[in-house]
Amino acid sequence: MADRTLETDYLVVGCGAAGMAFTDALVTDSDADVVMVDRRHAPGGHWHDAYPFVRLHQPSAYYGVNSLPLGSETIDRRGPNQGFYERASAPEICAYYDRVMQQRLLPSGRVRHFPMCDVVGRHRFVSRVSGEAHEVKVRRKHVDARYLEPFVPATFEPPFEVAPEVRCVPVNELSRVAERADGYVVIGAGKTAIDACLWLLEVGVAPGDIRWIKPREAWLNNRAFAQGGELVGTLFEGFSLQVEAAAKASSLDDLFERLSAAEQLLRVDERVSPTMYKSPTASAGELAQLRRIAGVVRLGRVRRIERDAIVLDGGTIPTSSRHLHVHCAAPGLNPAPAVPIFAADRITLQPIRTGLIPFNAALVGFVEATRGDVAEQNRLCPPNRLPDVPLDWVRGTLVGMQADHLWSQDPALSDWLERARLNPSRGLRQRGDDPRVRQARKRFADNVRPALAKLQQFLAGDRSAPQRG
Ligand SMILES: Cc1cc2nc3c(=O)[nH]c(=O)nc-3n(C[C@H](O)[C@H](O)[C@H](O)COP(=O)(O)OP(=O)(O)OC[C@H]3O[C@@H](n4cnc5c(N)ncnc54)[C@H](O)[C@@H]3O)c2cc1C
Repeated sequence: MADRTLETDYLVVGCGAAGMAFTDALVTDSDADVVMVDRRHAPGGHWHDAYPFVRLHQPSAYYGVNSLPLGSETIDRRGPNQGFYERASAPEICAYYDRVMQQRLLPSGRVRHFPMCDVVGRHRFVSRVSGEAHEVKVRRKHVDARYLEPFVPATFEPPFEVAPEVRCVPVNELSRVAERADGYVVIGAGKTAIDACLWLLEVGVAPGDIRWIKPREAWLNNRAFAQGGELVGTLFEGFSLQVEAAAKASSLDDLFERLSAAEQLLRVDERVSPTMYKSPTASAGELAQLRRIAGVVRLGRVRRIERDAIVLDGGTIPTSSRHLHVHCAAPGLNPAPAVPIFAADRITLQPIRTGLIPFNAALVGFVEATRGDVAEQNRLCPPNRLPDVPLDWVRGTLVGMQADHLWSQDPALSDWLERARLNPSRGLRQRGDDPRVRQARKRFADNVRPALAKLQQFLAGDRSAPQRG
């Protein structure tokens, strides 16, 4: 079949959170024409493969795209998220992205969407169902919105062997299991395993029937300080406490102790030093639930599950064919290295502020729409690769703070930040009279310079910075 030819300004590869937020921001602030391609049937990316009980770990209020709110932007009055902004479930997120495509992007008349198509090579895509191929003439840029595509258990084989008689399911299958198990073995240390444990407890499994194989302990962000909207004061208060902790830290270990004492970073087990940081958000209530699980196994990674034994790096524990083993051991966040976001003919979407994939992608869309010079674009948008280990908190915070400073010097960007619903710190300016915000501003101002110096030192490998004062 001969290739059809298309012409456009931007070819966006990937209609997940990154591609959608970028395109929404780009078409809002420019007259660009965009072709969006994804191998999936609908926009929303990995959320289509998510386990049924997943929710955003952050408020819906600053997830999605700028031009359309996700959810009702209200604060939950009951349940485990009480007092915090609502968090969307995966079906809500997928329905939302469909609305964004149908009600915002396509009606703009400047976006064409090609689902079920694989991009092969730079400017060619092929339908996975009809085989029809398109060659795209790109007038401006190719946008890689799949660079940080996450790895989820539904599509990622378990990184251990499983004997045929063993009951082992990816986390997605957990809620569909028909036959009761004698016990549940949750394998993984990250947010997915946390969600699996919380869900099992919520549906009434006794804590004693859960075994949690945790190769690493993780630092988690405290959801109480990750709110925006009316609660944006707490977000800034939290940030100022982080800056103070950094300024006063005498070493990297001391920094994490201080962040923990200031309740900025949480961990399930206070006796263990975390070696993992992927920037998920959790609440104190969730941690209290997780601490009910006493059967935590810390013998490293699982190598194989046999009919009656689980073989780990550091030892072997018994199991049985009546136990259900739950695979939560996919890497999750993509560890791809940071590369420049802008090039003459290409954009590679990556975060600038830690995490916040939609916010960062929208910011890149706005910068692309309003600045022509690649060097200037890259100056404003330094890439900040997704975190994995605690030192990445240091790097991520430093890159984010430096970028925030640059943005605050740029009137057009400052104005955009104040308008962007994806910006969690929007609205802070109007809350200057709030005593908590005033105190946080002072704490921030007193500590920001030494904090930046310490973070730079820690990043450079100096693990014993001299005590301040
Ligand atoms: C369970 C889970 C929960 C999360 N919760 C949050 C949260 O609360 N807040 C937050 O900020 N982040 C969260 N994240 C982080 C997450 O990475 C982002 O929120 C975001 O959804 C990732 O979007 P993306 O566009 O980078 O990737 P994806 O959603 O994977 O989108 C990339 C798209 O590219 C397409 N694609 C890839 N290759 C090709 C090709 N060759 N041709 C055509 N199409 C292609 C894929 O089909 C896919 O649809 C979570 C991640 C996971 C796994």
